[in-house]
Amino acid sequence: MGLSRNFSAGPGALPLTVLQQAQQAVLELPGTGISILGLSHRSTRFRAMLEEAEERLRRLLQLPPSYRVLFLQGGGTLQFSMVPLSLLQKGSVADYVVSGYWSRKAIEAARYHGEVRSAWSGAASGYRRLPRSDERVGSDDAAYLHYVSNETVEGLQFRYLPVTAAPLVCDMSSDFLSRPLDVQRFSLVYAHAQKNFGPAGVTVALVKEEVLAKAPRGLPPILDYRAHVEAGSLLHTPPVFAIYVVLLVLRWLEDEVGGLPQMAKATAEKSAQVYAALDDSNGFYRAHPEPTWRSEMNVAFRCPTPELEARFLADAAAAGMIGMEGHRSVGGLRVSLYNGVTREDARVAATFMREFAAVHRDDAYERAVE
Ligand SMILES: *Cc1c(COP(=O)(O)O)cnc(C)c1O
Repeated sequence: MGLSRNFSAGPGALPLTVLQQAQQAVLELPGTGISILGLSHRSTRFRAMLEEAEERLRRLLQLPPSYRVLFLQGGGTLQFSMVPLSLLQKGSVADYVVSGYWSRKAIEAARYHGEVRSAWSGAASGYRRLPRSDERVGSDDAAYLHYVSNETVEGLQFRYLPVTAAPLVCDMSSDFLSRPLDVQRFSLVYAHAQKNFGPAGVTVALVKEEVLAKAPRGLPPILDYRAHVEAGSLLHTPPVFAIYVVLLVLRWLEDEVGGLPQMAKATAEKSAQVYAALDDSNGFYRAHPEPTWRSEMNVAFRCPTPELEARFLADAAAAGMIGMEGHRSVGGLRVSLYNGVTREDARVAATFMREFAAVHRDDAYERAVE
């Protein structure tokens, strides 16, 4: 039946050329006589892949040598624990920006490991906004300030860094590699691959060396960034296939897209098209976030009634578009525009949204006055 246009919030769309190369590699990694699924993680071929992936990440992000690149497992969720285990010393407190579903998960997990504080909460606004760009967040003497750069569920995105003198730690799972990043401002950045740069199974962490030096001794090795650094991300069997697909995405980002500034340009264009369809709908669609914090990755919105939302999803599916449902915790609709979603996909989605609003605006109005 052919590939649908995938607007899912995660696992997200991947570029077609990446899927084609991955398909080929499952059968035979070109020129090797072996399937990627049977490739030893101790082989020189896999080590070369790991090295190339790190080199490409370093070039794309202009990563300073004082940062270590790790390929880990356990997703964003394991990072919610690994971060406080290494960075939150006894006697100190960590600050968390609580701006939505995923940052709530992060602070809940951190409470198992030490003293944490909600430094800012979006609860009163219904998670429709983030701290302002001039608003001080948390206390400067915190062990670190943790935040989520893009709240995937609510569709909120930071376009600046939170204002604090505390070391910054960021969960970038849903917008990593969508735009350039000034890594030097962070002590630690992590992102699982399955939203924006690969399949589930691998998580990238960028860790500043001085953080490693200060981490407590005696952690179980699998939870200790230092053990992973020493083992060169080969502490235990790595997800070879997932890392290979990430490498394909990194090659695509560098060689086809032309780098992160070009990616950011595409992202801005795609989201502008979709938000314009919302804004031109005369209130038929309501975006979840306040305008300043609208995410370029996840456009979260509602129709006038749940029935119309169900109809929207059914009509979208019939038109070859999938993954537009909102997160189960909030409902509504969500169009995700990850790197693998093309400009053409975004244009088709925006056109569909405009047509759907035009057809159903009047019934919605009639129902409201009945
Ligand atoms: C999806 C998501 C997570 C959860 O990651 P898992 O890999 O499922 O553990 C964490 N943080 C953010 C921002 C997410 O979007």
